[in-house]
Amino acid sequence: MSRYIGPVCRLCRRETAASKTGEKIKLFLKGDRCLSKKCAVERRGTAPGQKVTGTKNRSKISEYGRQLREKQKMRRYYGVHETQFENYFREAARVPGQTGRTFLQLLERRLDNVVYRLNLATSRAQARQLVTHRHFHVNGKNLNIPSYIVKPGDVITIGERSLKSPVFEANLEVARSRRPPDWLEWNDADNSGKVTQLPAREQIDTPVDEQLIVEYYSR
Ligand code: SF4
Repeated sequence: MSRYIGPVCRLCRRETAASKTGEKIKLFLKGDRCLSKKCAVERRGTAPGQKVTGTKNRSKISEYGRQLREKQKMRRYYGVHETQFENYFREAARVPGQTGRTFLQLLERRLDNVVYRLNLATSRAQARQLVTHRHFHVNGKNLNIPSYIVKPGDVITIGERSLKSPVFEANLEVARSRRPPDWLEWNDADNSGKVTQLPAREQIDTPVDEQLIVEYYSR
């Protein structure tokens, strides 16, 4: 399956430029750089290829355009391909209850996202790479599937040998100092993370309006 290998900051700038309110939208795709002054959204709020003219150049966006942008934003946020993204939506639509919330929950429960939320990786891209390189165990079993959907009770640990690698030495320091969201629990004693419950909507800080995405797929 093809993978986007272009400059990821362009994706953020695209969403920021499309924002009706002029809000600086960050997808947090580059780890610590996203929090620094080097962040491209902080330096330039224009769309890729658009010149800074000093005047606001935002064309009116249609309802369909808004839905499409919201869908693209969420897909890029979680780093999921179009087909896989659609499959998550279909799965969420099959489950009784609010489709938008279930959809967001499914993406949030991906193993690569959980590793990122536990602060064991600086970005979701790094989390995905660490998972595919077999650095993690789920319930004692070595797992290299970033799309694995975690469930309450699952325990995520780091492989013995991986603990000695420089990347984990740095990331573990962050994991010990930052609290994960309330649906996850970090244990310093054995460097493990536990899924305590399904993520509630208010525990997911993804800046998307999932209802617009439901409308996009319900056209
Ligand atoms: Fe987006 Fe991060 Fe790049 Fe800033 S540094 S534009 S938040 S990916």
